Amino acid sequence: MQGLPERVRIHEVGPRDGLQNESTIVPVEVKAEFIARLAVAGLSTIEATSFVHPAWVPQLADAAELLALMKWEPGVRYPVLVPNERGLDRALASGVIDIAVFGSATETFAQRNLNRSLSTQMDMFAPVVARAKDEGLNVRGYLSMCFGDPWEGPVPVEQVVSVGKGLLDLGCAELSLGDTIGVGTPGHVTSLIAAFAEAGIGAGALAVHFHDTYGQALANTLAALQSGIAVVDASAGGIGGCPYAESATGNLATEDLVWMLHGLGIDTGVDLDALIRTSLWLAERLGRPSTSRVVQARGAKLRDDHEPEAAGQRASRTAGDHTTPTEQGVNDASAE
Ligand code: MG
Repeated sequence: MQGLPERVRIHEVGPRDGLQNESTIVPVEVKAEFIARLAVAGLSTIEATSFVHPAWVPQLADAAELLALMKWEPGVRYPVLVPNERGLDRALASGVIDIAVFGSATETFAQRNLNRSLSTQMDMFAPVVARAKDEGLNVRGYLSMCFGDPWEGPVPVEQVVSVGKGLLDLGCAELSLGDTIGVGTPGHVTSLIAAFAEAGIGAGALAVHFHDTYGQALANTLAALQSGIAVVDASAGGIGGCPYAESATGNLATEDLVWMLHGLGIDTGVDLDALIRTSLWLAERLGRPSTSRVVQARGAKLRDDHEPEAAGQRASRTAGDHTTPTEQGVNDASAE
């Protein structure tokens, strides 16, 4: 296919966007291991947690504890969501160097999620972004409800561009366009990115964050890639979702994304089988199977050996039998 990037950077949101929307509260040690496994699988950007007030998101109340416990791999970025100046204080105290702020493209969601209006939300972000940049941090902006809003319906592209431009003008280095309820379709994606380009904002400043609620996430991703986007958000195993969406399906699964990208010859740096094993491992801890189609399709084959210790024992045990090298070997060894 023509017009696709050679490489896509996956912005892995599982530990934050995934776990914050799971009903299960995962122990901090499991979160740290989840993040470590994602790094081993080759994810280079792993959104770790959020400094939103614990009363809002009890699933991530252990943010500071997690950041102190987890292993920070060289070359991997671990952004943290920061809603306000208090959150920024906590992020700075934890040694965070990448943060994200989150805005709304619609009036209703700004009121409900941020307790601000569409325009006054910027007053909340401005001091956070300014001080973060003074401190040398990298700031990403998230924009929710870029395609549809459960209360307002379809969202005009001009409105999304206007709010998104506001976040970039504050100093956000990257803007992630969220289809929070998953209603977008590929033509809408193309139109929105074209509208940003007309406003002087190229695809290089944009990322996409699709939800698979209506089965459109990969089609929308492909449309975004054809429009020049090279940063895509996804959640390992498809964990999480949106409490405002109409079904349990939510975040685009990283495995499903990687399968498509690799099929297109696009480099991601991700070891797909190592990632699938990570999602199988996490699914046991969440007590429910992954929603990822790729995890479901390949999981049965990998399920027996997704534990590194078990894999090592198995590899040595089966070294002399008829198992083919690809079935038993290379990835098992690298998982250790
Ligand atoms: Mg999401």
